[in-house]
Amino acid sequence: MTTTDTVRVRIAPSPTGNCHVGTARTALYNMLFARKYGGKFVLRIDDTDLQRSTKESEEGVLEGLRWLGIKWDEGPDVGGPYAPYRQMERHHTYREVVSQLLASGQAYYCYCTPEELDAERKAAMEEGRPPRYSGKCAHLTAEQRAELDAAGAKRVVRLRAPQETLTFVDLLRGEQHKDMAERGDFVIVKSDGSPVYNFATVVDEHLMEITHVFRAVEHLTNTFDQLSVYKAMGWKPPQFGHLTLMLNPDRTKISKRAGAVYIGEFREMGYLPEALINFLALLGWNPGTDQEIFDMDGLVQAFSVETLSKSDAIFDIKKLDWFNGVYIRSLSVPELALRVKPFMERAGFDVSDEARLEAAVALVTDRLNKLTEAPDMLGFLFTKDVAISAESFAGKAKIGPEQILDALKQADGVLRQVDTWEHGPIEASLRALAEAMGWKIGDLLMQVRIAITGRRVTPPLFESLVLLGKDESLRRIGLAIAALEH
Ligand code: ZN
Repeated sequence: MTTTDTVRVRIAPSPTGNCHVGTARTALYNMLFARKYGGKFVLRIDDTDLQRSTKESEEGVLEGLRWLGIKWDEGPDVGGPYAPYRQMERHHTYREVVSQLLASGQAYYCYCTPEELDAERKAAMEEGRPPRYSGKCAHLTAEQRAELDAAGAKRVVRLRAPQETLTFVDLLRGEQHKDMAERGDFVIVKSDGSPVYNFATVVDEHLMEITHVFRAVEHLTNTFDQLSVYKAMGWKPPQFGHLTLMLNPDRTKISKRAGAVYIGEFREMGYLPEALINFLALLGWNPGTDQEIFDMDGLVQAFSVETLSKSDAIFDIKKLDWFNGVYIRSLSVPELALRVKPFMERAGFDVSDEARLEAAVALVTDRLNKLTEAPDMLGFLFTKDVAISAESFAGKAKIGPEQILDALKQADGVLRQVDTWEHGPIEASLRALAEAMGWKIGDLLMQVRIAITGRRVTPPLFESLVLLGKDESLRRIGLAIAALEH
């Protein structure tokens, strides 16, 4: 890359309503590349192949990228000097280029019917030739075309495929080539007048002055059709880099069937965008050091094309869980409370008391791995309605229901005597009781824990009792006693 070139890269998602993790990762690498070299990152909506695309289906994709912290310099929502950034709004541009190609003889109208093409294909297969278009419409005279047009025959536009082997050097995979003579002349405009993807994308790439294209490996074979268009127009192609695949641990390609694949799903599952970005960055990129934790600035610093990995990456959700825990613990308590809040609300808890929510969140920062775990862990602090039954206490066989009932009655007694409702005095009173009863302190605390939360695994007990307050704590122990008495 020469220093005089301004780097311009792009992500060109289809407006499918959801942002796929693969799209997000590709967008991330393009953005990092642009930031690294002081270039521009363009977002373009590739919607030529869609019957219809709606504002909502586009917004769903952009929303996923925005949530991850991916920002573009130009796009349909922010505008830019190369607008419009939706292919549907660029049809006049494609038509102009098609006219040029038709005028120069690099492209021609083909009137073959599907039946004719099918028969050609079958004949070729039977004779052991590659099934490519014969090129017969390339020889039609102007009169013949006029006749067919007058008769209302359907027509497509085909590009004359170069009769040579095309070569390019992939930024990740090295030299790639394909004999285009075997490909045959291919369609660039369909019979309904709409451009095919491999044509429209080249026109956009050229007019938007894209210098580098990092994209999914699925596009590798498309590159040769695209290079044919560049060649026919006499345009300089960008540099291409085809990224590695993301695989499940069993090495199948990640798919909706095998698990979550959309950014919105990961959000719903309680992952932080910072964690997901860090995780995605390392799927297909390796800084070459032991460092694993990168914020966006750190990624820009460390990123280079040379460090993009050449082998497919395993999408290991356990690793994502680990990242998420690390990022949760790196957040301040008020920030974490803010992230937890919608999950608590959705679970039906009233968390309008900010200070109370922060105090509760502070109890679980160390044990929370996903935001979705918060309602389960903290819900008992935000409801008066804790379901406790005699079955809740079923645990160690050696401690029977009568003993538990007795222990709770005694705990109720000593806790009533605690004047200053704080960690120290509460703990001292329960420790003294356990000793007097000849119980292990852990066994006693477990009964109190179950009585006030209905659960065996909870945030630290004494802090929980403090947060609940004396009255509410005693009320719950009373309810537990009543449940055990029946
Ligand atoms: Zn034809």
